[in-house]
Formats: sequence, C-alpha cells, structure tokens
Amino acid sequence: MAGLNDLNDDAMFPRLTEAQIARLDSLGARRNFAQDDVIFDQGSRSRSLFVVLKGRLEAFGSSTHGETRIAVVEPGQFTGELNVLAGRPTLVQARAAAASELLEIDQATLRRIVQTDSELSEIFLRAFLRRRAALIAQAHGDLILIGSPFSAATLRLKEFLSRNGQPYTYLEVERDTGVQNLLEHFEINLDDIPVLICHDRPVLRNPTNAQVAQCLGFNTEIDESRVYDLIVVGAGPSGLAAAVYAASEGLDVLVLESNAPGGQAGSSSRIENYLGFPTGITGQDLAGRAFVQAEKFGAHIAIARVAAGLACDRRPFRVECAGAEPVQGRALIVASGAEYRKLPLPNLGQFEGVGVYYGATRLEAQLCANEEIVIVGGGNSAGQAAIFLSSIAKHVHVLVRGPGLADSMSRYLIRRIEESPTITLRTHTQIVSLEGNGHLERLSWSNLESGATETRDVRHVFSMTGASPNTRWLGGCVALDDKQFIKTGADLLPEDLEAERWPLRGRPYLFETSVPRVFAVGDVRSSSVKRVASAVGEGSVAVQLIHRVLSE
Ligand SMILES: Cc1cc2nc3c(=O)[nH]c(=O)nc-3n(C[C@H](O)[C@H](O)[C@H](O)COP(=O)(O)OP(=O)(O)OC[C@H]3O[C@@H](n4cnc5c(N)ncnc54)[C@H](O)[C@@H]3O)c2cc1C
Repeated sequence: MAGLNDLNDDAMFPRLTEAQIARLDSLGARRNFAQDDVIFDQGSRSRSLFVVLKGRLEAFGSSTHGETRIAVVEPGQFTGELNVLAGRPTLVQARAAAASELLEIDQATLRRIVQTDSELSEIFLRAFLRRRAALIAQAHGDLILIGSPFSAATLRLKEFLSRNGQPYTYLEVERDTGVQNLLEHFEINLDDIPVLICHDRPVLRNPTNAQVAQCLGFNTEIDESRVYDLIVVGAGPSGLAAAVYAASEGLDVLVLESNAPGGQAGSSSRIENYLGFPTGITGQDLAGRAFVQAEKFGAHIAIARVAAGLACDRRPFRVECAGAEPVQGRALIVASGAEYRKLPLPNLGQFEGVGVYYGATRLEAQLCANEEIVIVGGGNSAGQAAIFLSSIAKHVHVLVRGPGLADSMSRYLIRRIEESPTITLRTHTQIVSLEGNGHLERLSWSNLESGATETRDVRHVFSMTGASPNTRWLGGCVALDDKQFIKTGADLLPEDLEAERWPLRGRPYLFETSVPRVFAVGDVRSSSVKRVASAVGEGSVAVQLIHRVLSE
C-alpha cells in the first residue's frame, strides 16, 4: 500500500526552516526518545505536534491489511494532522526509528500559533488538510464499517463518516467472502448490519450517529457545565460562518450540529456560484475547510448533538439536547436550516437510503453507475444533481410537475441539461408508485396532462423538491411565519413582539427574533435568500450584533 510519503508531496511533509524552528523552540519543550519508543499510539488522545530536531520517526496505520508504515518524518519535518487541532484521537501511531530529539508543541500552543503566526499557520494547516485527504483516500485509520447496499443504515453511516472527514475501511457483506469470517470472529449476526469496529473498543451494531461520534471521540472537548457566550444551533454555511467570526473575535462559542458540518451545502456535488471558486467546489470540501477554520479559532463543535428544546424564558438560555446534557449560553444563533421535503408516497420510508436519496454526492453516485435514474425537482439542486449524475448513470430522467425549468433553475444549468444526450426532462410528470423488495426495483410515473402512466426498472431516485425549516425543536419560543420559518428584525410585527412580551430597547436588531439575544440566520429565517453566500453573510453579520447585545 502506498505511504503518505510516497506521494512525495512537499506540502504534505514540508521541512521547516531554521528560523521557523527557532520561533517554535521558545514555545515548545525539547524531549528525547530512544529507538522504538512510541511517541503516540493510534487511538490515543495525543494533543501535541512534534517537530523532529534529530533522528527519525515513522508513522504506522492499521487497516484490514494489518500494520503499514505510512510515513517517515525527518529532521525539520513535523507530525500531526487535523485531529491534533481538534483534540480527537489520533489516526496513526508514531514510533522513533532512531534515537531522536523532538520539539513538543501542545494543543493550546498550537492553536495560538495557527491564530497568530500566518506563515506557520499556512504550513501546518495545509499539511494537516493534505494528510487527512491522503488518509481518507488510502482508508488508513482504525475504523472498519461492515455494511450492505440493502441496508439504509449503511448509507447513513457512510454519509456520516465521510461528511465528518473520517477515514474508514468499508467491507460489503455480499461481496467480500472474508467478511463472513470477520463477523463470526466477533459473533455478529447479519441482522446486526451495519457494524462498526473501532480500534480496541466494543463493536457497535447498527449504531446511531451519536454512538459513532462518541466512539470516535468527536465531542470529548465539549464542557456542558460551562456557560458559553454564544451557542449556535446548526453547522451549515450560516452556522459555521457565525462560529468562525465569533471565535475569531474572542467569543466563547459552542456549535451544536445534529449530523455533520456543511448542512444542505454539504450534500451538493458542486457549488459553482459561490464567490471565489471559479471552477466550483464540492459541498464537502467547502464544509471541511470551514470546519477547520472554526476549530482553528477555537470554536467548539459538537457533532451528532441534536438541539431538542430551548428554555427561552431564563437567562442564560438553556438548550436541551437529545440524549445528552443540556448546554447554556448568553446568546443564541439559530442556524438550523431546512430539510428536504418528502415525496407523498405511502411506502417512501421503505426505500429511503435504499433507492431514494436526498443528496447527490460521490457516495450516492457510486451506486448509479450505468443505471437509469430519476431526479425529482426543478430547482438548482436538482439541476446540479442531473449534470453530475449524467456522467455516471446510463440515463437521467428529470421529473417536474410544472411546464418547465425556466422559473426555478439557473439558466446555465438549464442549458447544460438541454444539451446533454443522457438527460431527459419530463414535464407535467410525477412519481405515483415505488416497488421493490429490500431495495427499490421499479417505479411508475404519470403524466398529469395526458394521464398516461409508465413503469420503469429504475433503482435510484433523487428527491430534490425543496425544503421545510427545522424549527420544531424551538417549541414555539420565537415568532414564526405561516410556513414555520423564523421571523426576524423588521419582519416582526408589533403583535409578534407583544405576544412574546418584547421587553427592551426599540425594535429587534437585524436577524434578531422575537426573543432578545436569540438570532436566526440562513435558510431557517423567514424571507432569507436560499443560497450559500447569503447564509454565510448572515451568519457573519449576526456576530456583530451579538457583540452589541452582550454588551447591553
Ligand atoms: C443539493 C443542494 C445543492 C445546493 N447548491 C447550491 C449552490 O450551488 N449554490 C448556492 O448558493 N446554494 C446552494 N444550495 C442551497 C444552500 O446549500 C443553502 O442555502 C445553505 O446550505 C443554507 O445554509 P444554512 O446554514 O442556513 O442551513 P443548512 O445548510 O440547512 O444547515 C443547517 C444545519 O443545521 C443542522 N440542524 C438542523 N436542526 C438541528 C438541531 N435541532 N440541532 C442541531 N443541528 C441541527 C443540520 O444538520 C444542518 O447541518 C444547495 C442546496 C442543496 C440541498
């Protein structure tokens, strides 16, 4: 198996200059190790970065192939990847290959360096990001997922791990004969699929995302006893932007994210209209970078932590969390966005994750190679999915109930759809039935004008019919519009404020809800523009106003 060094990438294993090492020397501690000493173990919570001054280190990763040497770290080079910054368990083991002198930089100092020393920050963060990408590509790490394409929970876990940038080895029960032996070894039945095997921890059988997050140590740094300056609910583009600005401006920030960073944007195959990315960027890349940026400034991000209620009549605010301790904050930004609308079909639930999908990323695309697929919806997300999947699937049918796409989709996407020989637009058409045993096998669609119904052997449907706001968890705390989006600022009528007994200075600030110090940004906000750029803009602007209300 290729090692990380084999990629011969100077940006992944750069050598620090003497001047850079001298700067670090005053901030770290020099330590000596004998040959074969373990510097840190795979799965341990090593919170330090080590610069090699003398000697040599070797990094080892374990996978289904056993232990592999994946990198050699020589004088001037340094250990570490994203988990050091986040305080999560390490993905590799490092040993001294010779008697070595190392400079140890602890996590708090490392954070300070990446915030204050722009030259070293660039070198470290770039190396960390590249190393993580290589670890993912080579499936290094100690995590094995055993699953099946006939299990919706398998796709859920694959998405959860991928969207959280976690390397893992995937073994498919139906394809891999060795898997049966592995299952027997751990006394696991087929009914327990999907199964997750973490390094030296108990095997998880069909775990929830929260159980996986716990097993991987995602949230070990979250302190539920603390009163945070700001709690942000949701780590989509708006919540991450708020976290980056708030943390970089000195606020103590906690972000609660029910699934993975990125929100809806994270499920986009390619965002082409976000400023600064002329060739486009995948939602996953954008989310990954924003997450690292928030961590760099010291924001705390709790993954798979669902806000389930808000006690808005007490100060500090208390946010109830499903299956976890509540958290408290002096101010709150609601950035919980929206979730996909569902097709009105009685047996839909039977096929979600096993034939019906709400995102079109690389993971779902892998399932569609050379197959006929259906995309439902006429918005930009449906258009992007059609273009992306048409390069993999045999044929893509785009179904819309209306007469065309002109009112709902950007012109550049419509043109690409029209020009593609492998995409057919079917107007005035809707799905009327889904059939299959364990996985979607066929469906019927009907033309609303002619009444003609057609049945096709289609095994994959992408439902992209818009979204409804995630506001149920607020339990009526703040004023909502008639579609359940949160009203803010000038949209709040005097009767909204009266109902909430608005007690303060004049009117609520821009993005402030009917409850003082509770703000709402992005797609969850009434009359917001449903775009990445506006979500990011709103998240950052709200932070300015948070400073103001906290000082009042
Ligand atoms: C497939 C697709 C493609 C798109 N492409 C583009 C594009 O090319 N260009 C563009 O400008 N826009 C695009 N959009 C729209 C854009 O992604 C959204 O406008 C943007 O993501 C909104 O950001 P947000 O942070 O407000 O909300 P969201 O992205 O919806 O994020 C909300 C987050 O909150 C979390 N959450 C929800 N409830 C809770 C809770 N109770 N507790 C904790 N966390 C919670 C969710 O898990 C989610 O991560 C696309 C959308 C989709 C679905």
